[in-house]
Amino acid sequence: MTYEAAAGRYGSMPYPHCGRSGLRLSAVSLGLWHNFGGADEFDTQRRIVHTAFDHGITCFDLANNYGPPPGAAEDNFGRLLARDLKPYRDEIVVCTKAGYTMWPGPYGDWGSRKYLVASLDQSLKRMGLDYVDIFYHHRPDPATPLEETMAALDWIVRSGRALYVGISNYNGERTAAAAAELRRLGTPFVIHQMRYNMLVRQPEMDLFPVLEREGLGGIAFSPLAQGLLTDRYLGGALPADSRAAGKVGFLKPEHITPERLRIIEALNEVARTGGRTLAQLALGWVRRQPAIASVLIGASRPQQVVDAVRAVEMAPLAGDEIAAVEAILASQ
Ligand code: NDP
Repeated sequence: MTYEAAAGRYGSMPYPHCGRSGLRLSAVSLGLWHNFGGADEFDTQRRIVHTAFDHGITCFDLANNYGPPPGAAEDNFGRLLARDLKPYRDEIVVCTKAGYTMWPGPYGDWGSRKYLVASLDQSLKRMGLDYVDIFYHHRPDPATPLEETMAALDWIVRSGRALYVGISNYNGERTAAAAAELRRLGTPFVIHQMRYNMLVRQPEMDLFPVLEREGLGGIAFSPLAQGLLTDRYLGGALPADSRAAGKVGFLKPEHITPERLRIIEALNEVARTGGRTLAQLALGWVRRQPAIASVLIGASRPQQVVDAVRAVEMAPLAGDEIAAVEAILASQ
């Protein structure tokens, strides 16, 4: 069946600027870390991506190592591009990264120029693309000079492999140093990808002030704490098809502690009172940060994408909702 994108896809999604750059991101982005591996049903992957694009999501986030096996998510996204999305290539922001272990030996990990350029060439091949819109260094490398990694990002843009660059998992201090180096080189450095949600607030301390000062856009990954901040585990449930019950990934049943459950149940009450789902409250809470341009969700089914899109169509969190959330988080 030929895919035709929904005619009304640009009806309600906000597209904030990514920092002080000209690039605008959909306020919700879709990540392919989970559920897009070699063993995952291709038809479900296809329906999730179509639902996203049909609802105005233009930003798709990948990395060299997403799978399993590593590379499978890019392979699958490449199939989707070739089959359905090629006519829409200029309406889509494709992002990928390198920085974690990808192949054996000294050149398949971290932050050398050797690794980053080779990895991006592999990613482009898997996705069948000439360039990506955003290429990220996935994590800081303490053993490679920052100047080398940043020069590699700069060259990646100048060689036509990426339009913009970003960094991920860098703390505030290192981000400021990276920004200074990339400014000196004249590189279009526009975005930082960080873990940020109600249960992980470190970026508020050191990172967000740097992003605002430097004019960089923030994109928050795992805004739902991998599903903890949704109705999935309410009442102590462990659904068989949930991430925590699965064999792949980092979210384990032991992370759903009685203390966490108490917090999640209380947050759910705030959500209910405000006419939101818990996931929608969690996304609204992340979006209240001026540094955040987009929330980067994952999804195991199309309906979860629709829930997230509804969250950004709703009114921003009211002052009393934020105060109620803060009181619950302070009680941890
Ligand atoms: P989320 O916190 O959004 O968790 C996604 C999971 O939550 C889904 O797979 C689903 O789990 C559950 N979920 C989502 N929406 C709903 C809903 N409405 N109701 C109930 N459950 C819901 O994000 P991820 O942890 O998946 O991360 C998102 C993306 O961020 C990744 O795909 C990746 O692109 C990026 N990322 C980047 C990292 C980095 O180092 N730069 C690290 C990690 C992620 P279930 O399977 O149980 O249905």
